[in-house]
Amino acid sequence: MTATRVLVLNSGSSSVKYQLLDMSDGSRLATGLVERIGEQSSRLKHTPLATGESREWNGAIADHEAALKAVAEELAKDGLGLDSPELAAIGHRVVHGGKSFTEPTVIDERVLAEIERLIPVAPLHNPANLTGIRTAQGLRPDLPQVAVFDTAFHTTMPEAAARYAIDVRTADEHRVRRYGFHGTSHAYVSRATAKLLGRAPEDVNVIVLHLGNGASASAVRGGKCVDTSMGLTPLEGLVMGTRSGDMDPAVIFHLARVGGMSIDEIDTLLNKRSGLIGLCGDNDMREIRRRIDEGDEEAQLAFDIYIHRLKKYIGAYYAVLGRVDAVAFTAGVGENAAPVREAAVAGLEALGLAVDGGLNAVRADEPRLISPAHARVAVAVVPTDEELEIATQTYALVGR
Ligand code: ADP
Repeated sequence: MTATRVLVLNSGSSSVKYQLLDMSDGSRLATGLVERIGEQSSRLKHTPLATGESREWNGAIADHEAALKAVAEELAKDGLGLDSPELAAIGHRVVHGGKSFTEPTVIDERVLAEIERLIPVAPLHNPANLTGIRTAQGLRPDLPQVAVFDTAFHTTMPEAAARYAIDVRTADEHRVRRYGFHGTSHAYVSRATAKLLGRAPEDVNVIVLHLGNGASASAVRGGKCVDTSMGLTPLEGLVMGTRSGDMDPAVIFHLARVGGMSIDEIDTLLNKRSGLIGLCGDNDMREIRRRIDEGDEEAQLAFDIYIHRLKKYIGAYYAVLGRVDAVAFTAGVGENAAPVREAAVAGLEALGLAVDGGLNAVRADEPRLISPAHARVAVAVVPTDEELEIATQTYALVGR
Protein backbone atom coordinates (compact mmCIF):
# COMPACT_ATOMS: atom_id res chain seq x y z
CA MET A 1 0.00 0.00 0.00
CA THR A 2 1.34 3.45 -0.86
CA ALA A 3 1.46 5.83 2.03
CA THR A 4 -0.17 9.04 0.82
CA ARG A 5 -1.45 10.66 4.00
CA VAL A 6 0.26 13.58 5.70
CA LEU A 7 -0.62 14.88 9.14
CA VAL A 8 0.03 18.61 9.45
CA LEU A 9 0.64 19.91 12.97
CA ASN A 10 0.71 23.55 14.01
CA SER A 11 1.72 23.57 17.67
CA GLY A 12 1.31 26.83 19.59
CA SER A 13 2.16 27.50 23.21
CA SER A 14 -1.27 26.35 24.44
CA SER A 15 -2.85 24.91 21.33
CA VAL A 16 -2.39 22.34 18.59
CA LYS A 17 -4.13 22.68 15.23
CA TYR A 18 -4.05 19.71 12.90
CA GLN A 19 -5.20 18.47 9.52
CA LEU A 20 -4.88 15.07 7.94
CA LEU A 21 -4.59 15.24 4.16
CA ASP A 22 -4.48 12.63 1.45
CA MET A 23 -1.83 13.74 -1.01
CA SER A 24 -3.04 11.45 -3.79
CA ASP A 25 -5.62 14.17 -4.48
CA GLY A 26 -4.93 16.87 -1.85
CA SER A 27 -8.21 16.11 -0.07
CA ARG A 28 -8.73 16.66 3.64
CA LEU A 29 -9.62 13.65 5.78
CA ALA A 30 -9.87 15.32 9.17
CA THR A 31 -9.27 18.67 10.82
CA GLY A 32 -9.27 19.81 14.41
CA LEU A 33 -7.71 21.68 17.24
CA VAL A 34 -6.89 21.39 20.91
CA GLU A 35 -7.11 24.66 22.85
CA ARG A 36 -6.16 25.81 26.33
CA ILE A 37 -3.63 23.02 26.87
CA GLY A 38 -2.44 23.05 30.48
CA GLU A 39 -5.71 24.49 31.83
CA GLN A 40 -8.66 22.76 33.45
CA SER A 41 -10.93 23.87 30.61
CA SER A 42 -9.05 22.42 27.63
CA ARG A 43 -11.11 21.70 24.54
CA LEU A 44 -10.63 19.32 21.64
CA LYS A 45 -12.67 19.76 18.50
CA HIS A 46 -12.31 17.12 15.83
CA THR A 47 -14.02 16.96 12.45
CA PRO A 48 -13.73 13.88 10.23
CA LEU A 49 -14.49 15.15 6.73
CA ALA A 50 -16.19 11.89 5.70
CA THR A 51 -19.20 12.79 7.85
CA GLY A 52 -18.44 16.46 8.49
CA GLU A 53 -19.85 16.00 11.99
CA SER A 54 -17.61 17.56 14.63
CA ARG A 55 -16.96 15.95 17.99
CA GLU A 56 -16.04 18.06 20.99
CA TRP A 57 -14.35 17.06 24.17
CA ASN A 58 -13.97 19.38 27.16
CA GLY A 59 -11.80 18.71 30.20
CA ALA A 60 -8.24 19.02 31.42
CA ILE A 61 -5.46 18.27 28.92
CA ALA A 62 -2.22 18.66 30.83
CA ASP A 63 0.39 19.09 28.11
CA HIS A 64 1.18 18.69 24.42
CA GLU A 65 1.83 14.98 24.81
CA ALA A 66 -1.63 14.43 26.27
CA ALA A 67 -3.08 16.67 23.55
CA LEU A 68 -1.49 14.71 20.71
CA LYS A 69 -2.51 11.40 22.29
CA ALA A 70 -6.09 12.66 22.43
CA VAL A 71 -5.88 13.71 18.78
CA ALA A 72 -4.49 10.29 17.87
CA GLU A 73 -7.43 8.62 19.64
CA GLU A 74 -9.94 10.76 17.79
CA LEU A 75 -8.28 9.98 14.45
CA ALA A 76 -8.27 6.27 15.30
CA LYS A 77 -12.03 6.33 15.90
CA ASP A 78 -12.44 7.30 12.25
CA GLY A 79 -10.02 4.63 11.04
CA LEU A 80 -7.37 7.30 10.45
CA GLY A 81 -5.03 6.39 13.33
CA LEU A 82 -1.40 7.43 13.48
CA ASP A 83 -0.41 3.76 13.31
CA SER A 84 -1.91 3.46 9.84
CA PRO A 85 0.52 2.30 7.13
CA GLU A 86 -1.07 4.93 4.90
CA LEU A 87 0.47 7.74 6.95
CA ALA A 88 3.58 8.90 5.04
CA ALA A 89 4.83 11.69 7.27
CA ILE A 90 4.05 14.39 9.76
CA GLY A 91 4.63 17.98 8.61
CA HIS A 92 5.24 20.58 11.30
CA ARG A 93 4.80 24.30 10.96
CA VAL A 94 7.91 25.84 12.51
CA VAL A 95 7.79 29.60 12.89
CA HIS A 96 11.45 30.55 12.89
CA GLY A 97 14.10 28.93 10.74
CA GLY A 98 16.49 31.90 10.86
CA LYS A 99 18.99 32.06 7.99
CA SER A 100 19.75 28.35 8.33
CA PHE A 101 16.63 26.84 6.85
CA THR A 102 15.82 27.92 3.34
CA GLU A 103 13.68 24.87 2.55
CA PRO A 104 11.48 22.29 4.22
CA THR A 105 13.73 19.89 6.08
CA VAL A 106 13.46 16.32 7.31
CA ILE A 107 13.89 16.53 11.07
CA ASP A 108 16.84 14.90 12.78
CA GLU A 109 18.80 15.76 15.93
CA ARG A 110 20.84 18.40 14.14
CA VAL A 111 17.68 20.13 12.90
CA LEU A 112 16.14 20.02 16.38
CA ALA A 113 19.28 21.58 17.84
CA GLU A 114 19.19 24.39 15.27
CA ILE A 115 15.51 25.15 15.93
CA GLU A 116 16.40 25.27 19.61
CA ARG A 117 19.34 27.60 18.92
CA LEU A 118 16.86 30.01 17.30
CA ILE A 119 14.67 30.28 20.43
CA PRO A 120 16.13 33.71 21.37
CA VAL A 121 14.67 35.20 18.16
CA ALA A 122 11.32 33.34 18.51
CA PRO A 123 10.80 32.90 22.23
CA LEU A 124 7.04 32.37 21.98
CA HIS A 125 6.89 30.08 18.99
CA ASN A 126 9.92 27.83 18.56
CA PRO A 127 9.66 26.16 22.01
CA ALA A 128 6.04 25.18 21.29
CA ASN A 129 6.98 23.93 17.82
CA LEU A 130 9.79 21.84 19.33
CA THR A 131 7.46 20.33 21.90
CA GLY A 132 5.05 19.38 19.12
CA ILE A 133 7.81 17.71 17.12
CA ARG A 134 9.25 15.79 20.07
CA THR A 135 5.80 14.59 21.10
CA ALA A 136 4.99 13.43 17.57
CA GLN A 137 8.34 11.65 17.39
CA GLY A 138 7.47 9.87 20.62
CA LEU A 139 4.21 8.62 19.14
CA ARG A 140 5.69 7.49 15.79
CA PRO A 141 9.50 7.28 16.11
CA ASP A 142 9.77 5.45 12.77
CA LEU A 143 7.89 8.06 10.73
CA PRO A 144 9.61 10.89 8.81
CA GLN A 145 8.83 14.28 10.32
CA VAL A 146 9.35 17.42 8.29
CA ALA A 147 9.76 21.01 9.46
CA VAL A 148 8.23 23.65 7.18
CA PHE A 149 9.44 27.10 8.19
CA ASP A 150 7.43 30.33 8.14
CA THR A 151 10.62 32.20 7.35
CA ALA A 152 11.95 29.98 4.53
CA PHE A 153 10.22 31.68 1.60
CA HIS A 154 11.77 34.99 2.63
CA THR A 155 15.38 33.78 2.71
CA THR A 156 15.70 34.90 -0.92
CA MET A 157 15.38 38.55 0.16
CA PRO A 158 18.48 40.50 -0.88
CA GLU A 159 20.64 41.90 1.92
CA ALA A 160 19.46 45.40 1.04
CA ALA A 161 15.94 44.38 2.12
CA ALA A 162 16.89 41.98 4.91
CA ARG A 163 19.28 44.22 6.86
CA TYR A 164 18.34 46.93 9.32
CA ALA A 165 20.48 50.04 9.14
CA ILE A 166 22.11 49.49 12.52
CA ASP A 167 25.67 48.72 13.57
CA VAL A 168 26.62 45.60 11.62
CA ARG A 169 28.60 43.92 14.40
CA THR A 170 25.83 44.32 16.95
CA ALA A 171 23.27 43.09 14.43
CA ASP A 172 25.32 40.01 13.56
CA GLU A 173 26.15 39.17 17.15
CA HIS A 174 22.47 39.02 18.05
CA ARG A 175 21.17 37.78 14.69
CA VAL A 176 19.18 40.99 14.25
CA ARG A 177 17.86 41.14 10.69
CA ARG A 178 14.57 40.94 8.83
CA TYR A 179 13.37 37.34 8.53
CA GLY A 180 9.69 37.71 7.58
CA PHE A 181 6.86 35.32 8.44
CA HIS A 182 3.68 33.83 6.90
CA GLY A 183 6.10 32.44 4.30
CA THR A 184 4.07 29.32 3.47
CA SER A 185 1.09 31.55 2.73
CA HIS A 186 3.06 34.02 0.60
CA ALA A 187 4.61 31.12 -1.34
CA TYR A 188 1.28 29.39 -1.90
CA VAL A 189 -0.64 32.55 -2.82
CA SER A 190 2.01 33.95 -5.18
CA ARG A 191 2.06 30.63 -7.07
CA ALA A 192 -1.74 30.38 -7.09
CA THR A 193 -1.92 33.95 -8.43
CA ALA A 194 0.38 33.09 -11.33
CA LYS A 195 -1.82 30.08 -12.04
CA LEU A 196 -4.91 32.28 -11.99
CA LEU A 197 -3.24 34.52 -14.59
CA GLY A 198 -2.37 31.44 -16.64
CA ARG A 199 1.34 32.21 -16.42
CA ALA A 200 4.43 30.56 -14.95
CA PRO A 201 5.46 31.83 -11.48
CA GLU A 202 8.90 32.69 -12.93
CA ASP A 203 7.28 35.23 -15.28
CA VAL A 204 5.09 37.02 -12.77
CA ASN A 205 5.66 39.80 -10.20
CA VAL A 206 3.11 39.80 -7.40
CA ILE A 207 2.39 41.86 -4.31
CA VAL A 208 0.80 39.49 -1.79
CA LEU A 209 -1.26 41.01 1.01
CA HIS A 210 -1.85 38.41 3.74
CA LEU A 211 -4.42 40.13 5.94
CA GLY A 212 -5.52 37.94 8.83
CA ASN A 213 -5.37 38.73 12.51
CA GLY A 214 -1.62 38.89 11.89
CA ALA A 215 -0.92 40.64 8.60
CA SER A 216 2.01 40.93 6.22
CA ALA A 217 2.79 42.03 2.70
CA SER A 218 5.40 40.63 0.37
CA ALA A 219 6.95 41.56 -2.95
CA VAL A 220 7.50 38.46 -5.06
CA ARG A 221 9.54 38.68 -8.25
CA GLY A 222 9.41 35.66 -10.53
CA GLY A 223 8.38 33.35 -7.70
CA LYS A 224 11.03 34.60 -5.27
CA CYS A 225 10.44 36.89 -2.32
CA VAL A 226 12.40 40.15 -2.58
CA ASP A 227 10.85 41.99 0.36
CA THR A 228 8.33 41.43 3.12
CA SER A 229 6.82 43.59 5.83
CA MET A 230 7.48 41.50 8.95
CA GLY A 231 10.99 41.64 10.32
CA LEU A 232 13.00 40.19 13.18
CA THR A 233 9.62 39.26 14.66
CA PRO A 234 6.04 39.40 13.37
CA LEU A 235 5.60 42.84 14.96
CA GLU A 236 6.91 44.93 12.05
CA GLY A 237 4.91 46.19 9.10
CA LEU A 238 1.17 46.46 8.60
CA VAL A 239 -1.40 47.42 11.22
CA MET A 240 -2.69 44.07 12.56
CA GLY A 241 -5.48 42.84 14.79
CA THR A 242 -3.54 43.44 17.99
CA ARG A 243 -0.02 44.46 16.82
CA SER A 244 1.16 47.97 16.04
CA GLY A 245 3.27 47.22 12.98
CA ASP A 246 5.73 49.97 11.98
CA MET A 247 6.47 52.89 14.27
CA ASP A 248 9.42 54.98 15.38
CA PRO A 249 11.52 52.66 17.61
CA ALA A 250 12.01 55.65 19.91
CA VAL A 251 8.41 55.18 21.06
CA ILE A 252 9.82 52.31 23.13
CA PHE A 253 12.48 54.46 24.84
CA HIS A 254 9.88 57.14 25.44
CA LEU A 255 7.41 54.75 27.07
CA ALA A 256 10.20 53.33 29.23
CA ARG A 257 11.81 56.63 30.26
CA VAL A 258 8.86 58.95 30.41
CA GLY A 259 6.01 56.45 30.80
CA GLY A 260 7.85 54.32 33.36
CA MET A 261 6.81 51.12 31.61
CA SER A 262 8.91 47.96 31.78
CA ILE A 263 10.17 46.21 28.65
CA ASP A 264 7.67 43.40 29.24
CA GLU A 265 4.81 45.87 29.56
CA ILE A 266 5.79 47.57 26.32
CA ASP A 267 6.12 44.18 24.62
CA THR A 268 2.57 43.32 25.68
CA LEU A 269 1.31 46.76 24.65
CA LEU A 270 2.73 46.54 21.14
CA ASN A 271 1.92 42.88 20.50
CA LYS A 272 -1.42 42.46 22.27
CA ARG A 273 -2.99 45.86 22.91
CA SER A 274 -2.18 47.76 19.73
CA GLY A 275 -3.24 47.54 16.10
CA LEU A 276 -7.00 47.57 15.52
CA ILE A 277 -7.83 46.46 19.06
CA GLY A 278 -5.72 49.23 20.54
CA LEU A 279 -7.18 51.83 18.22
CA CYS A 280 -10.87 51.01 18.61
CA GLY A 281 -11.32 48.09 21.03
CA ASP A 282 -12.16 45.54 18.30
CA ASN A 283 -9.85 43.45 16.16
CA ASP A 284 -12.48 41.68 14.08
CA MET A 285 -12.95 43.49 10.77
CA ARG A 286 -16.60 42.42 10.64
CA GLU A 287 -17.32 44.21 13.90
CA ILE A 288 -15.33 47.26 12.82
CA ARG A 289 -17.31 47.51 9.57
CA ARG A 290 -20.57 47.11 11.49
CA ARG A 291 -19.59 49.99 13.80
CA ILE A 292 -18.57 52.14 10.83
CA ASP A 293 -21.97 51.53 9.24
CA GLU A 294 -23.50 52.87 12.46
CA GLY A 295 -21.39 56.02 12.22
CA ASP A 296 -18.78 55.10 14.85
CA GLU A 297 -15.87 57.53 14.40
CA GLU A 298 -13.35 55.57 16.46
CA ALA A 299 -13.89 52.49 14.28
CA GLN A 300 -13.65 54.66 11.16
CA LEU A 301 -10.31 56.11 12.26
CA ALA A 302 -8.94 52.63 13.07
CA PHE A 303 -10.00 51.49 9.58
CA ASP A 304 -8.42 54.56 7.97
CA ILE A 305 -5.09 53.99 9.76
CA TYR A 306 -5.17 50.32 8.71
CA ILE A 307 -5.81 51.27 5.06
CA HIS A 308 -3.26 54.10 5.04
CA ARG A 309 -0.49 51.70 6.08
CA LEU A 310 -1.63 49.04 3.62
CA LYS A 311 -1.59 51.54 0.78
CA LYS A 312 1.92 52.66 1.71
CA TYR A 313 3.13 49.06 1.40
CA ILE A 314 1.43 48.59 -1.96
CA GLY A 315 3.23 51.70 -3.19
CA ALA A 316 6.54 50.67 -1.64
CA TYR A 317 6.44 47.18 -3.15
CA TYR A 318 5.38 48.59 -6.49
CA ALA A 319 8.60 50.61 -6.40
CA VAL A 320 10.64 47.60 -5.22
CA LEU A 321 9.32 45.42 -8.06
CA GLY A 322 9.28 48.05 -10.79
CA ARG A 323 6.74 46.05 -12.77
CA VAL A 324 3.71 44.55 -11.01
CA ASP A 325 1.49 41.95 -12.68
CA ALA A 326 -0.86 41.31 -9.79
CA VAL A 327 -1.87 42.33 -6.29
CA ALA A 328 -3.33 39.38 -4.37
CA PHE A 329 -5.46 39.66 -1.25
CA THR A 330 -5.57 36.68 1.10
CA ALA A 331 -6.35 35.42 4.67
CA GLY A 332 -9.43 36.22 6.80
CA VAL A 333 -9.65 39.94 6.06
CA GLY A 334 -8.16 39.84 2.56
CA GLU A 335 -10.49 37.05 1.41
CA ASN A 336 -13.67 38.36 3.02
CA ALA A 337 -13.58 42.11 3.53
CA ALA A 338 -14.54 43.75 0.21
CA PRO A 339 -14.40 47.29 1.73
CA VAL A 340 -10.75 46.73 2.73
CA ARG A 341 -9.83 45.66 -0.80
CA GLU A 342 -11.71 48.56 -2.34
CA ALA A 343 -10.17 51.15 -0.01
CA ALA A 344 -6.64 49.72 -0.34
CA VAL A 345 -6.46 50.38 -4.08
CA ALA A 346 -8.73 53.43 -4.22
CA GLY A 347 -6.99 56.30 -6.00
CA LEU A 348 -4.21 54.10 -7.41
CA GLU A 349 -5.52 54.16 -11.00
CA ALA A 350 -2.32 55.90 -12.09
CA LEU A 351 -0.48 52.71 -11.03
CA GLY A 352 -2.89 50.64 -13.12
CA LEU A 353 -4.71 49.44 -10.01
CA ALA A 354 -8.48 49.34 -9.60
CA VAL A 355 -11.23 47.02 -8.44
CA ASP A 356 -14.54 46.37 -10.15
CA GLY A 357 -17.30 46.94 -7.59
CA GLY A 358 -19.44 44.05 -8.83
CA LEU A 359 -16.59 41.53 -8.93
CA ASN A 360 -15.27 42.71 -5.56
CA ALA A 361 -18.65 42.05 -3.94
CA VAL A 362 -18.77 38.41 -5.09
CA ARG A 363 -18.10 35.87 -2.34
CA ALA A 364 -16.41 32.64 -3.37
CA ASP A 365 -13.88 30.11 -2.14
CA GLU A 366 -12.03 30.04 -5.46
CA PRO A 367 -9.18 32.33 -6.59
CA ARG A 368 -10.71 35.15 -8.62
CA LEU A 369 -9.95 38.44 -10.33
CA ILE A 370 -11.64 41.57 -9.02
CA SER A 371 -9.98 44.12 -11.32
CA PRO A 372 -11.89 45.51 -14.31
CA ALA A 373 -11.40 43.75 -17.66
CA HIS A 374 -8.20 44.84 -19.44
CA ALA A 375 -6.72 46.34 -16.26
CA ARG A 376 -2.95 46.86 -16.48
CA VAL A 377 -2.43 45.15 -13.13
CA ALA A 378 -4.59 42.23 -12.00
CA VAL A 379 -6.15 42.55 -8.56
CA ALA A 380 -7.08 39.14 -7.19
CA VAL A 381 -8.58 37.40 -4.18
CA VAL A 382 -6.65 34.19 -3.64
CA PRO A 383 -7.64 32.07 -0.63
CA THR A 384 -4.58 30.84 1.21
CA ASP A 385 -4.12 27.24 2.33
CA GLU A 386 -1.13 26.94 4.61
CA GLU A 387 -1.95 23.38 5.64
CA LEU A 388 -2.10 22.17 2.03
CA GLU A 389 1.18 23.94 1.33
CA ILE A 390 2.86 22.33 4.37
CA ALA A 391 1.48 18.92 3.39
CA THR A 392 2.59 19.38 -0.24
CA GLN A 393 6.11 20.39 0.77
CA THR A 394 6.28 17.55 3.31
CA TYR A 395 5.08 14.95 0.83
CA ALA A 396 7.45 16.22 -1.85
CA LEU A 397 10.33 15.39 0.53
CA VAL A 398 9.21 11.99 1.76
CA GLY A 399 6.51 10.72 -0.60
CA ARG A 400 7.11 7.15 -1.62
P1 ADP B 1 -5.20 34.31 11.76
O1 ADP B 1 -4.89 33.04 11.01
O2 ADP B 1 -4.13 35.35 11.70
O3 ADP B 1 -5.75 34.12 13.13
P2 ADP B 1 -7.33 34.65 9.81
O4 ADP B 1 -6.62 34.65 8.51
O5 ADP B 1 -8.20 33.50 10.14
O6 ADP B 1 -6.37 35.02 11.00
O7 ADP B 1 -8.22 35.99 9.85
C1 ADP B 1 -9.02 36.28 10.96
C2 ADP B 1 -9.63 37.65 10.77
O8 ADP B 1 -10.35 37.69 9.55
C3 ADP B 1 -10.67 38.01 11.81
O9 ADP B 1 -10.06 38.60 12.93
C4 ADP B 1 -11.54 39.01 11.07
O10 ADP B 1 -11.03 40.31 11.28
C5 ADP B 1 -11.36 38.67 9.63
N1 ADP B 1 -12.57 38.13 8.99
C6 ADP B 1 -13.01 36.87 8.97
N2 ADP B 1 -14.17 36.78 8.29
C7 ADP B 1 -14.48 38.03 7.87
C8 ADP B 1 -15.55 38.61 7.13
N3 ADP B 1 -16.54 37.87 6.66
N4 ADP B 1 -15.50 39.93 6.90
C9 ADP B 1 -14.49 40.70 7.36
N5 ADP B 1 -13.46 40.21 8.06
C10 ADP B 1 -13.45 38.90 8.33
